[in-house]
Amino acid sequence: MMPESPPRPRRIRILREEVSRKIAAGEVIDRPFSILRELLDNAIDAGASAIDVFLEAGGLGRIRVVDDGAGMGREDLADCWKPHATSKIESEDDLLRVSTLGFRGEALASIAICSRLTITSCEAANEPAHRLEVVGGVVQGIEASHGRQGTVVDVAELFFNFPARKKFLRSVSAESSLCRAIFIDRAVSHPAITFRLFTDGEVKLSLPRASHVERISLSYPQQIDPRMLFESAARGNGFAAEVVAARPEVRRRDRKLIQVFVNRRRVSEYSLMQAAEYGFSGFVPGGWYPIAFVFIDIDPGLVDFNIHPAKKEVRFRNLPEVHSSVVAAVRAGLGTAKLSQSPFEPARLRKAVSAPAAGGGALPFLPPEKSLPPVQADTAGIRFLGQVFGVFLVFELSGRLLILDQHAAHERIIYERLGTRVPKLQEMLFPLSFDVSEEEEGRLEANLEDLAGMGIQIRRVGSRSYEITAISDDFRPLREDVLVELVRGAGGEEWREALRATAACRLAIKEGDAVDPMTARELCAQSLRLAVPRCPHGRPLWHELSEDELRKLVDRPPVTASGPGASSPPA
Ligand code: ADP
Ligand code: MG
Repeated sequence: MMPESPPRPRRIRILREEVSRKIAAGEVIDRPFSILRELLDNAIDAGASAIDVFLEAGGLGRIRVVDDGAGMGREDLADCWKPHATSKIESEDDLLRVSTLGFRGEALASIAICSRLTITSCEAANEPAHRLEVVGGVVQGIEASHGRQGTVVDVAELFFNFPARKKFLRSVSAESSLCRAIFIDRAVSHPAITFRLFTDGEVKLSLPRASHVERISLSYPQQIDPRMLFESAARGNGFAAEVVAARPEVRRRDRKLIQVFVNRRRVSEYSLMQAAEYGFSGFVPGGWYPIAFVFIDIDPGLVDFNIHPAKKEVRFRNLPEVHSSVVAAVRAGLGTAKLSQSPFEPARLRKAVSAPAAGGGALPFLPPEKSLPPVQADTAGIRFLGQVFGVFLVFELSGRLLILDQHAAHERIIYERLGTRVPKLQEMLFPLSFDVSEEEEGRLEANLEDLAGMGIQIRRVGSRSYEITAISDDFRPLREDVLVELVRGAGGEEWREALRATAACRLAIKEGDAVDPMTARELCAQSLRLAVPRCPHGRPLWHELSEDELRKLVDRPPVTASGPGASSPPA
C-alpha cells in the first residue's frame, strides 16, 4: 500500500437543476465519432500533453482514448459518468465564461448508458489508480488498478442495448472516416498536444507536438504542402485572429479546407469562412476556394457556445469586428508572403475597357459579375499566347505579336488610377501610429488634407506623434512600414509622384507571378488604352512585331501588300 497522503480535493459536482436547465442539451450520442469527439474534448480539458486514440471497426468495436492529463481520484471517478456531473462549471454565471471544451456534464452519462464503459484514472504518479466499469448505465464496480498519471476511457460494445440506434450506423469505413475527421479537427486546433491515431492496431496518424503550420500540413498530407503555407495574425478588442493559409496557387473547388476554430473548437460559422474567402478575393479566381485555417482566440465572455449541444455554433458579441480582423489577417499575410497580386481583384482591375479612358485616366467600373469586360473592336481579337521568362505576356492581335511587360504594365495602370480616382476612405481597424521628426512634422501638418485627398487619413495624437486612421483600398495591400515611410515623406520634393509610383510598384503583379489568361487579356486591353504606354519610371511597356517584321527576321517574303491591320496599338 502507498503511504497515506491527504485526500485531494474533489473536482466534480452534480449541477443544480437551475443550472442544468440552462444548458443547450439534447444531442444524443448517436455514432462513434460523436463519442470520440467528447472523449477527445475531455482529454484536452484535462490538460493532456499526449493523446492516443485506438479505434476498432471504425469505433463500432471499440473506442479507446488514452491521455496523460490531470486524471481523477476515486470519488470523482465514481461520479463522472452521472448526468450533469462536471468539474467545469458550477453556476449559471460560469456559463458566461466557459474556457473548457466541455461544460455540460452529459457526455460520459450518455455514453455510459449505451455501451460498456471502462475508465481507468490516476491523478499523479504516486497516487493510486482506479478503474470504473459501467455497463448499459449500471455500475459494475470501482476498484484499485494500475496506471500512469492520466485517464484511459474505453468504450466497447457500442449500442449493444439499443439495437434501433445500431441500424442507423453506416459501414465501418464510413464511421471510421468520420472519426478520423473529428480527430483531425482536434489535432489541428491543438498543435501543442501530441496526437496518435491507431485503427485496428495500426498507426494511421502520428502527430508530434508541432507548430500550427506543421500540424496542419501533417494532418492533411495529401492536400497541403507546408512550403505553400503562410501565417498571419491580427488583434482586436478581446480577441486575436490567427490565420494559416496556403498561397493562392493552391486552390480548391470546394470549401472543405476553409475552416474556422473559435477558442479551439471547430465551428460552422459561415460568416467567418466567408471572411477568409473575402480576404483572398482578387487572388483566387471565381469558382475556386482558398485553403485557410482561421483560429479565433476570444475572451469567453464575448462568445456564447451554449446554443448547440455539440457546440458547433457560436454567437459573437462583436462579429463584425472579428470578421474584419480575419479579412485583415488574410490580406496582411498575402501581402507579406510576397504573393502575386492578381488583377482579379474586383475593386482593383475589373474595370471596363469599353470606353477609352480620357487622357489615360480612370477606367469605369464593371459590375463584378461580368468577368470578361467588353472590349472595343481593336482589342476584341486579343489572343493570349502565354507568359514567357516569368515576366512577359505574349499576345497576338490585329496581325501583330505584342510582348507586354506584366509588372510595368500593371504598375502604370495603377499609377494612373491613383492620380485620378477620388479615393474612398475606409477606417482602419487598428490605427497605425508612428512618430516623425520635427522637420517631418512641419511638412506633414501642411499636407494632411492633401494626403486625405489621396486616400490616407492621418490624425495627430501628440507632439510629433501621429496615427493613420483610414486609408483607401489602393493602399491597403501595402506593408505598414512602407505606408508609414511614404507618409513621412509627405511635402518633400515630388512626394506626390513618389507616393503614387511606390504604391503602384508595390501593388502591381511582379516578375515571376503567374498570370491567368483572363487577367492577361484584361491587362493587355487596359494597357492599350493608356495615353502613355510607359511605366512610371519611363520604361516602355511593350514590344511589338508585325507578321512581316517577323517574316523578315527569317528571310521570308511578306504576306500581302496590304500589311498588318490598321488598328495597331497606340505608340
Ligand atoms: P463535461 O466534459 O461537460 O464536464 P463529461 O461527461 O464529458 O462532462 O465529463 C464529466 C467530468 O468527468 C468532467 O467534467 C471531468 O471532470 C471528468 N473527466 C472526464 N474525462 C476526463 C479525463 N479524460 N480526464 C480527467 N477528467 C475527466
Ligand atoms: Mg466532456
